[in-house]
Amino acid sequence: MDHTPERFTGSFTQQEPIPEEGIAAAIEVMRSGRLHRYNTAPGETAEVALLEQEFAALTGARFALAVASGGYAMATALRALGVGSGDRVLSNAFTLAPVPGAIASVGARPVFVGVTEALTIDLDDLVAKAGQAEVLLLSHMRGHICDMDALMEVCRAHGLRVIEDCAHTMGAAWAGVPSGRHGAIGCYSCQTYKHVNSGEGGFLVTDDEEIAARAVMLSGSYMLYDRHLAAPGPELFEQVKYDLPNISGRMDNLRAAILRPQLAALPERVARWNARYRVVEDGLRGTPGLSVIERPQAEAYVGSSIQVLLLDWEAEAIRAVVAGCAARGVELKWFGASEPVGFTSTYDSWRYAAPEPMPESDRVLHAILDMRIPLTFSEAGCALIARIIREEVTARAPESGP
Ligand SMILES: *Cc1c(COP(=O)(O)O)cnc(C)c1O
Repeated sequence: MDHTPERFTGSFTQQEPIPEEGIAAAIEVMRSGRLHRYNTAPGETAEVALLEQEFAALTGARFALAVASGGYAMATALRALGVGSGDRVLSNAFTLAPVPGAIASVGARPVFVGVTEALTIDLDDLVAKAGQAEVLLLSHMRGHICDMDALMEVCRAHGLRVIEDCAHTMGAAWAGVPSGRHGAIGCYSCQTYKHVNSGEGGFLVTDDEEIAARAVMLSGSYMLYDRHLAAPGPELFEQVKYDLPNISGRMDNLRAAILRPQLAALPERVARWNARYRVVEDGLRGTPGLSVIERPQAEAYVGSSIQVLLLDWEAEAIRAVVAGCAARGVELKWFGASEPVGFTSTYDSWRYAAPEPMPESDRVLHAILDMRIPLTFSEAGCALIARIIREEVTARAPESGP
C-alpha cells in the first residue's frame, strides 16, 4: 500500500496545567512561609484543613484526612484497623504495585483474589479465600467497580472489613454511592496520573470516629488534632493518643492550595474524561478479536483510562499489536508480558508475597491492553487513536469472524 498510515502525536503522560487559581494560592502559601499544615498564624485556617473539609463534603464522608500519598493512605488505613505483622490481607490480583506494597509495609502478607473478564474482583474467589483474613484491601483498578452491594454482602457474611483503594475512582460512584464510601475506609491518590494532581498526595475518608482519630494520630499530628476541620472531637483523641506511633505522612499547604480548585472542578473534568472515553470505546467496539469492557448501569465511572481484552490471543500477536500501535504513536500497556514494564506488574511479579498461581486470572491478565486518556487529548485525537488500534488489531486478529 502506498498511503501513509495515520499517526497520533499526543503525549500519553501529559496532564493539564494546574488551574491559575491554584497557582495563585500556592504562591500565596510560599510568600507566607507557612507550608506546614500546623504552622498557622493566629486566626488562620490552613489550606490542608480546608481541603479536608471540602473532600469530606465531596465524598459525603464524616471525616477526611489528607496525606503524603495514596500508598501512605492505604498503609495508614491498614494500621488504623489494627493490621500488623504476620496478618494476611486480601487484595486484588489485578492492581498496581503500591497496593500489595502498602500491605507489606505494615508487615502483613497480601493474599490475592482473582480478576474476572469485567476486570473486577472475582466474588467466588473472594468467598473461597474470605476465611484467610479479616481485612480486604479492595482496589478499583483502572476505575472498574465490582457489584459493591454483592461484595459488601459477602464481606459482612464473612466478617471482612473493607478498605477501598480509589486511586482510579475519585469522582466515581456505584448505584449513586460515591466510590470509597461502601467500606470502612476509602483511600485516594492525588499523584500526577490520577484525577487530581499535586505531584504526590492522598486522602483517607471514613465515617468511623475511632478510625478517623487513629488515622490522624498515625499521620503525624503530634497533639495538634484540634486544627483539623474534618476530624472527630477531642474526646476521641483522648482515648487513642497514647497508643499510636507517629508515622509522619502529612500533606503540606502548598499541595493543598493547588488541589482545592481541582477538587471543585472534578465533576466537569469527569464529564470531559467520559466524553473522550466514549469516543475511544465507540471506535473500538466490534473490532474482530477485541472485547471492550461493557460498563454496568450502576457504575458511574471516570474514563481516565480504557482497557480492552484480546482474549486467548497468542503472546506474539499481542506484542505485534502493541508494537504496531506504538509505531503510530499510540501507547498501549500490556499486562500479560512475561516481565513487568512500567506500571504493568501483576500478582506474579510480587514474589515477596509468595502468590499462588491463578490460571483463570492469568488468562484475563494476559489479554489486558491498557491506555491512558489524558485530558490534553481532543475528542478528534481519541477518534484517531481508536482507528489506529482498530486497524492494528484487525490486521492481526486470529481467525477473524465470518
Ligand atoms: C497510583 C495508585 C495507588 C497509589 O497511589 P500513590 O499516590 O502513587 O501512592 C494505589 N492504587 C492504585 C491502583 C494506583 O494506581
